[in-house]
Parts: sequence; C-alpha cells; structure tokens
Amino acid sequence: MLDLEHIKRCAAEVGFDLCGVAKCHPMSSDGAFLQRWLEEGNGSTLAYLERNAEKRADTTLLVEGAKSVIVCAIAYKNPISEGYAPDCRTKIASYACAEDYHTTIRRMLQQLCERLRSEHPTLRGRVFTDSAPIFEKRYAVEAGLGWIGRQSLLVTPQFGTFVLLGEAVVCEECNGYDVPLQGVGCGECRRCIDVCPNGAVLDRHIDTRRCISRLTIEREEEPMAETAEPTLHGWLFGCDECQTCCPYNRRAPIATAPHVAPLFDPREMSAEDWQKMSEAEFASRFATTPLSRSSRERILRNIK
Ligand code: SF4
Ligand code: SF4
Repeated sequence: MLDLEHIKRCAAEVGFDLCGVAKCHPMSSDGAFLQRWLEEGNGSTLAYLERNAEKRADTTLLVEGAKSVIVCAIAYKNPISEGYAPDCRTKIASYACAEDYHTTIRRMLQQLCERLRSEHPTLRGRVFTDSAPIFEKRYAVEAGLGWIGRQSLLVTPQFGTFVLLGEAVVCEECNGYDVPLQGVGCGECRRCIDVCPNGAVLDRHIDTRRCISRLTIEREEEPMAETAEPTLHGWLFGCDECQTCCPYNRRAPIATAPHVAPLFDPREMSAEDWQKMSEAEFASRFATTPLSRSSRERILRNIK
C-alpha cells in the first residue's frame, strides 16, 4: 500500500510543483464525449486521437493491474508567457522555448518511481507524458490539481494553465486518494473564448481545424489559398493567446526552476533571423526544445 503523503513528498523532492493521486478507473463517459467530438470533425488531422479508444477509456488496458494514477505537474510560466507586442509576427508558444517537457517530465517521473521503489521494491507501473492514450486532464482534475477551463486546458489555482503534466500509473493501491477541488472554477469569465483569434475555443473543447497550435505544429499540408483558411496571426509554433489572457495565469508566478528556463527568446528574433538560419544552425540551436519536433521548413512556411 502506497502512502499518499510520502508520494507527494517524493514528487516535491524531484522538483514537481504539484502532485495528486487518483484511483484508476474506466472513463466511459469521457470516451463517449471524445467519440462524439471526433465524429463532429473537431479532431481534424489529429488522427492519433482516433487510435486506442478502448485503452484511453480504460487505463487498466494500458497498464495491466493499474490501481493508482499519480498525476504530477511542473509550472513553467516565463516572461514570454506574458505575451508579445501586438505587431510581433514571429511568436513561439512559451513552453516551446525551454527544454522539451517530454524529456524533462519523463526523467522526473522515473526519479519519483525510483524513490517509491526504495520502500516498495516490487512496485510496477509506467510513466507517461503526453505519450499515451490516457485522459490525463481528467485524472488531474480527480487528483485535485485543478479544473478544465473553457479553453479545455487544466487550470490550477496556483499556476493557471502554464503547467505541464505527467503521470505514473502504478499497480498498487494508495492509503488515500485526492478529491476534485471544490469552490473554484472559471465562474462568469469567458476571456479565452473571446480572445481566440480564430474562434476555436468552444467552451471546454476546441475546434482543432481552426486552432493555431495544430495549424503551426501538426499540419502537414500546405495552407490553402482561399480566404476561409484560418490565419496564424503571427504564430510560428503553437499559440498562447487563450492562456495569456487567463486571470489565473496573469497572477501566476514566473517559474524559477532551471529545467523550465527558456533556452532562447523569440522576442529577440525577427522573421529575417529565422529565414537566414541554416538547417544545421536550426538543428543545433533547437535540438533539445520542442521545436526539434517541427522543422525549419515548417517554421519558414508559417512565416510565409
Ligand atoms: S491555442 Fe490559439 S488558436 Fe488555439 S484555441 Fe487557443 S487561442 Fe485559439
Ligand atoms: S480565461 Fe477565464 S474562462 Fe478561460 S480558462 Fe481562464 S478563467 Fe476560465
């Protein structure tokens, strides 16, 4: 049996800002919602969302014998998260200016599991960060980390939406589980809906066909010439608009942990700087950041 407070202490020791534990259980209603959302075409080119629907709805199909989901988060707000000048046309989402969180969080989750195994040597489980079919935001809500905002991101009272999530799914019961937060939420606020430049925020879900994050990062095809094509509004990789506006983010502290420190500042780079950069320089400058999942060619296409 795992001890809830011990898990939280270990998570804090390896550098997580938030940690909660939820019971592992089937999530059939979330699975049904996702299915409807996909059928309405909201998933666009995100074909991976259509795969592994059964595993997504039942984490025990992903990790046999799973009993508990330890949800951890790191806060990453940096000065770039506070927004760009209105005329900036070379914007990069602020999370993408630091080391790729897939690397950072996986490493930290593994360290967390090693600590837990010092008391539970036979503990089995797997760690995930945006890398498996799992309703991670739903588990984060159940683990008491926050709620789902109107732009469909997890909003935490302490750090707003500028958090990155990871989970350790373990095959051991815990002596206690967290419960969802009470008495907090978006209230009457609708800022993220009003601010989205492409009208992609649909009150707790997103139309990814119009979302700049997908258009700049995931879209393979060339933009179409017709006027109905949603525009990128100066974003080259990702988009922070529906986060920067959130009151919870405005009062969130700037993160000081070295693993989320920005490695470059897009506010100091012009379109010409990006265009002059060689393939080799792009590869070496951004090798450890999420931009390495894109390509110089795609960035140049987005500038165009
Ligand atoms: S990331 Fe940008 S385009 Fe996508 S929903 Fe948020 S504000 Fe809209
Ligand atoms: S901007 Fe307002 S509505 Fe949107 S997530 Fe933040 S609090 Fe909720």
